[in-house]
Amino acid sequence: MNLRHMVDDIGPRKDSRLVVALDVRRPRWSLEWIRAFVEESSNYIVGIKIGVPSILSFGLENISRVVNGFRDVIWIADMKLADIGYVGRLIVDEISNAGFDAIIMHGFVGFEKGVGDTIVYASDKGLSPILVAAMSHPGGEEYLNRVSGDILMKSIDYPVEGYILPATFTKYIRFYRKMVGERVILSPGVGTQGAKPGSAVLNGADLEIIGRWIYMDESPISRVRELHGVLRWHLQG
Ligand code: C5P
Repeated sequence: MNLRHMVDDIGPRKDSRLVVALDVRRPRWSLEWIRAFVEESSNYIVGIKIGVPSILSFGLENISRVVNGFRDVIWIADMKLADIGYVGRLIVDEISNAGFDAIIMHGFVGFEKGVGDTIVYASDKGLSPILVAAMSHPGGEEYLNRVSGDILMKSIDYPVEGYILPATFTKYIRFYRKMVGERVILSPGVGTQGAKPGSAVLNGADLEIIGRWIYMDESPISRVRELHGVLRWHLQG
């Protein structure tokens, strides 16, 4: 199923627009912690984004067991892939074999024999390609965000299924919503990075990605429930 269909299936059913970012590592967190978190938060969340720190710390095989053991969330591998097409395809193979639904990659490397090949290859394998169009940290404005319009325009001809656009700079979400049409906009930067929950969705994002605010909390599941109370499927300002 493509990313839009997955979001439109899971989001209304769970009445949620929340994706949890897990950048958790050993020894503070464990695979058991991740498993329990996924089970207990599942009714409230649309997806889980696993970052490179977690894949390096726990190993892709271990993460893959968790992914394959639980299917009612969208599993996103945040590889921030930025390489030539050949290497991109190798990484796509690994992530696809591990059972993920989607993969995040950068567009700034350029499309011809670069991210363009990787996007097409991932799409053909049924792994939804998500492109980072702009970054949420202040330094995103130094280089990448300035060319985000060019990257986005070029990407429209490719089977990109989702875009990462920052909750900390909602102007990009507003600018690009029309350009990307039905493709999914996922927005990080809520909580620890400063944006308010709901602010990205109210500016046109489909989903908000929240990490440290949840997994660093003393009671992550209570935090998830609280955020679920804000990030409803029919969120209105
Ligand atoms: O912990 P926090 O909620 O700030 O996590 C945000 C997540 O979104 C991290 O996993 C980070 O890698 C990711 N991300 C981001 N800004 C982008 C793209 C991805 O913060 N532009």
